[in-house]
Amino acid sequence: MLRIYNTLSRTKELFTPHQTGKVGMYVCGITVYDYCHIGHARMMVVFDVVQRWLRALGYQVTYVRNITDIDDKIIRRAVEQGIGIGELTGRFIDAMYQDLDALRVQRPDHEPRATQFVPQMLGIIRRLVDQGFAYQVAPEHALAGDVHYAVRRFAAYGRLSGRSLDDLRAGERVTPGEGKLDPLDFVLWKSSKADEPSEAIWQSDFGPGRPGWHIECSAMSESILGTPIDIHGGGADLQFPHHENEIAQSEAAMPDREHPFVRYWMHNGFVRVDNEKMSKSLGNFFTIREVVEQFDPEVLRLYILRAHYRSPLNYSDAHLDDARHALLRLYGALSEKRVATPSDQIVQPASDQAAAMGLNQGAVTSPDDAIDHWQGRFADAMNDDFNTPVAIAVLFELAAEVFRAREQLDAPRAGKLEAALRALASSLGLLDQDPGHVRESGLLGLARRGSGLSDGAIEAMVRERQEAKQAKDFQRADRLRDELGQAGIVLEDSPQGTRWRRQ
Ligand SMILES: [Zn+2]
Repeated sequence: MLRIYNTLSRTKELFTPHQTGKVGMYVCGITVYDYCHIGHARMMVVFDVVQRWLRALGYQVTYVRNITDIDDKIIRRAVEQGIGIGELTGRFIDAMYQDLDALRVQRPDHEPRATQFVPQMLGIIRRLVDQGFAYQVAPEHALAGDVHYAVRRFAAYGRLSGRSLDDLRAGERVTPGEGKLDPLDFVLWKSSKADEPSEAIWQSDFGPGRPGWHIECSAMSESILGTPIDIHGGGADLQFPHHENEIAQSEAAMPDREHPFVRYWMHNGFVRVDNEKMSKSLGNFFTIREVVEQFDPEVLRLYILRAHYRSPLNYSDAHLDDARHALLRLYGALSEKRVATPSDQIVQPASDQAAAMGLNQGAVTSPDDAIDHWQGRFADAMNDDFNTPVAIAVLFELAAEVFRAREQLDAPRAGKLEAALRALASSLGLLDQDPGHVRESGLLGLARRGSGLSDGAIEAMVRERQEAKQAKDFQRADRLRDELGQAGIVLEDSPQGTRWRRQ
């Protein structure tokens, strides 16, 4: 019984898709003019886990995540660099895949690009104009030729943000001479300017121009999934105005429809860096590729999933290093040779409804009640609005059980527990590396492994060795001592602990 927090109702609701057993899910993807940052990483990982869990529950999922490949920033950047728009976006789409593959973010079923859906966007704009929800700005105004959405015409405007039109409008004024009817009116079609590259211009009934950002998602989501869309997701920053505008466009364009545009709206929380808003001007802005030079990408994934997706996430090196240790602990429970999992399916807790819906298909029932217990708790956590921190806590308990079984020399039980740990972790996209390789690398990025060790890195390795000794993993403890020795670090063990110095 999956429950999802719906931003629109501000409550956790029982999830029932429009069509039994099938889920259509749309997530606003990336505007490709630069490298992806850790805010993108969070959004991508969060919704990757959502779609993985829906599939684990047995739903037939159609996951659509778009790419915005035309926009003001893209045009500006391409002009600055003296290259074509397609060349710029192609370069950053390739870079995006490199980052997302490293983070084990699975590819969506459809990845539409805005530039491929301009006719569909124009179709919606035409309907909005014909039905009086949009207007073209007259030639005497500054925004001449642009087509704008008239927010006043849409009674439900502000419902997703939970604010009235007057609240939203507070402090905003119509700029005289601009041609907008309301300061919150937003652009559907931007008429082309003389200096814009030809790649940014499409012909239309409204004259040459290009689509505004908001209309892109209405057109791509509806064209591929139809409506209602079961789940529409994105970062919290998209709730207003982007998603508010999507609802206004899509619902006004088809006023006779019997259902809403979207059934469940999901938003992931912000990423802050050292308790400040991440921004380029504050110099605390990190791209995914910068982070994975310091830490293995799986560390970043675990770090993201240890917070609930709706909570704010505070990024710092110390937090990442903490996640690295945590991940090493989990890998510590895995033997070098992959233990055959009965199937990589997750065992669901007994649920009559799920069974009736065929959601338990392919699930394996283990004869071991204790293992059922962990699997059940894991599933309960995930079904409670994707509570990954609790689900991950279950992984740690399972890992502790593996150690206990090994200490008791109960190899069959250790094997079963390990298989359960791997299967549950895989539904989160975790623990897919070779444990031997992980123990060697210490889950540090290439840059950290290759160059001289910083004090922080040395201290982390000393702590790790201490933990290995406590876990009676003397082989790993010795390997860490050797590694430090090769880097010219001398360890001195004493009853008070371990000190280190450079040679
Ligand atoms: Zn969008």
